[in-house]
Amino acid sequence: MKILVTNDDGVAAPGLRALVEELKKLGKVVVVVPDREQSGVGTSVTLHHPLRVREVVPISDGIPTHIVEGTPSDSVIIALGMVLGEKVDLVVSGINEGSNLGNDVIISGTVAAAFQGYFHGISSMALSVASFHDLNFEVASGLALAFARQFKEGALPHKLLLNINLPNLPLKDIEGIEITRLGERSTTDAVRNGAISKGFDGKRDYYWIRHGAPEWVGGEGTDIWALKQNRISVTPLHSDLTDSEHCAVLQDMSSSLFDSLKTTG
Ligand code: MN
Repeated sequence: MKILVTNDDGVAAPGLRALVEELKKLGKVVVVVPDREQSGVGTSVTLHHPLRVREVVPISDGIPTHIVEGTPSDSVIIALGMVLGEKVDLVVSGINEGSNLGNDVIISGTVAAAFQGYFHGISSMALSVASFHDLNFEVASGLALAFARQFKEGALPHKLLLNINLPNLPLKDIEGIEITRLGERSTTDAVRNGAISKGFDGKRDYYWIRHGAPEWVGGEGTDIWALKQNRISVTPLHSDLTDSEHCAVLQDMSSSLFDSLKTTG
């Protein structure tokens, strides 16, 4: 089994090492990652300047390690297109420092990297631990290995994307695994929580969007709810963002909208 491991926290992230140490027990692991932290860049792809890629000292014995001067999505695209000669069976992204829940999956570089694998028809996983301090990667890396085994044995459907979030707890304090749907977190958290600060750099004013205390919204069965219950959240994702519920009302309106273009034009 050939596994591409990537992340958005960059090559120096301890969560990356923890993941690689586990996954190499199962198959051939290759690491292709951004050369520095790229949290929050979402699905961004670099189109306006060339990308340098360098093979560096393996982060673990025998594990080819490449760094990309770009985003997590760039890393996966370069890995699949240029670095890896053979077919990749699984893409694993993480282990991220901090959760990627609810609306945050849209801005998450960790989840975006997994999406790139999925877009290329490869089963992919994103793993995140819900803390910025004293992180425990042991359970997350163990779970990554357990899921990778299921993929290897063909026990899971082809082309699956899993967004996995874990409470930052030792296994004995975790209540179980919950299969969840995405909850919500307002994208305007920083606006409502006053988490934008203004400063002066000596010449000009600047603004800084900070991590605020997010107002999590998530009923039973959501990823946010699962974490609050000290459970591991596993959310299968797909890329269809269509709001099917509102297609009918828009369809009803479409003829008159088109007619109005003719009269106002
Ligand atoms: Mn990150």
